[in-house]
Amino acid sequence: MDFSEPSEAIQIRKAIDEFIEREVAPLEREHDRFLGEDYERHIVDDDHRQVPEYRDVVAEIRQKSAEAGFYGMSMPVDVGGGGVDVLTRSIVGEHVSNRPPGFHSAILGGAGGPTPILLACDERQREEYLDPLMEGEITTCFALTEPDHGSDPHYMDTTAERDGDEWVINGEKYWITNGPYADFAMVFARTSGDDGDYDGITCFLVDEETSGYSVDRIHRTMGLTPGDQCALAFNDVRVGDEQVLGEVDRGFQTAMDWVGGGRINIAATGVGKAQYLLDKATDYASSRETFGKPIGHRQGISFQLADLATEVEQVRWLYRYAAWKLDNGERARKEESMAKLRGAELYNEAADVAMQVHGGSGFMKDLPIEREYRSARVFRIFEGTDEIQRRTIARELI
Ligand SMILES: Cc1cc2nc3c(=O)[nH]c(=O)nc-3n(C[C@H](O)[C@H](O)[C@H](O)COP(=O)(O)OP(=O)(O)OC[C@H]3O[C@@H](n4cnc5c(N)ncnc54)[C@H](O)[C@@H]3O)c2cc1C
Repeated sequence: MDFSEPSEAIQIRKAIDEFIEREVAPLEREHDRFLGEDYERHIVDDDHRQVPEYRDVVAEIRQKSAEAGFYGMSMPVDVGGGGVDVLTRSIVGEHVSNRPPGFHSAILGGAGGPTPILLACDERQREEYLDPLMEGEITTCFALTEPDHGSDPHYMDTTAERDGDEWVINGEKYWITNGPYADFAMVFARTSGDDGDYDGITCFLVDEETSGYSVDRIHRTMGLTPGDQCALAFNDVRVGDEQVLGEVDRGFQTAMDWVGGGRINIAATGVGKAQYLLDKATDYASSRETFGKPIGHRQGISFQLADLATEVEQVRWLYRYAAWKLDNGERARKEESMAKLRGAELYNEAADVAMQVHGGSGFMKDLPIEREYRSARVFRIFEGTDEIQRRTIARELI
């Protein structure tokens, strides 16, 4: 058994630190209003849409990250990616998350960037969608969830019906990350079969300027970056066969093929965030004095830190084990879900401990802890809720 980190992960981490120092930090200093205590007021306009100045900074980092080879690092080399394995990508993801909120989150792409589902692109789609996406020139969004179907998306109401040599898409998608700004959407619609069938769902690549495609409203969230999620409406949207991604009726399987890696990335992000919050709380506990001694000298505080540090190590090794299994071609459904479940819970626990240790100053907006506290919560909801992860784990057991 070898617990050392892959040398590639160590190299990429170092290169990313240099990139952040060189390319991202100056932009963060220049646009500090997007990161300060009033960040929400500055990032979005009255319609809750991100302002062009903010989008421009994100686009600049995205393109520089693509040039530097970080943006599409987990995509295969033959499509212009870095070909790094799941373990390396997740270790790097943990490292990048181990910071206060900042523009560095644009480096690795996220929901609007290159996703392995697009490896199903044919030659023409690759030129039109995947290549510019890999270069950071355009962005996309993953449109699966609907107002009435989140945990059970295969019961979706969106349909695509045949009309001559076209498909006509009708339906609504909800809470779609990067939806307001995406140049094209990966839209899932039922093309055959019955409610709840995994077969019979097709993924379409739909350009945002297609007639009938609209951003209905931008959702307002408790945490994360404001203005990132929206409802998308599809009213008699007509597309040809050339817009089908992969096989007709097999879109759901194509999407599920890469969900595992996504869950591991969420877990790794949770670990990175928890480590950041633990370190911040530990520093504060060493310097803040009450009753004539640092609070870290009291068991009431130091044991909270000890328990959190133990949890961080547990989840770190859990997600790395899941990644290692995937990289070795082993089935890891149970471990992916365990890692996602615990990574999300850990981030929340860490935000809670950090706030408790900081007392009143943790509750104030001067420090990023209250923002982390709010942003952590959604980790237990998106990419499969806690309950859905437990359902998957139980199914693997029984
Ligand atoms: C910030 C954010 C970003 C998102 N980004 C995207 C995106 O880019 N693309 C996209 O397609 N979707 C996105 N989503 C949607 C997300 O994937 C769903 O919110 C999630 O899958 C849960 O679905 P739901 O909210 O409809 O909850 P529901 O499915 O309605 O569940 C409600 C509650 O019931 C529980 N529950 C449901 N079924 C069961 C069961 N069988 N057993 C036990 N408990 C159950 C759930 O765990 C939850 O607690 C995003 C959501 C958020 C909040």
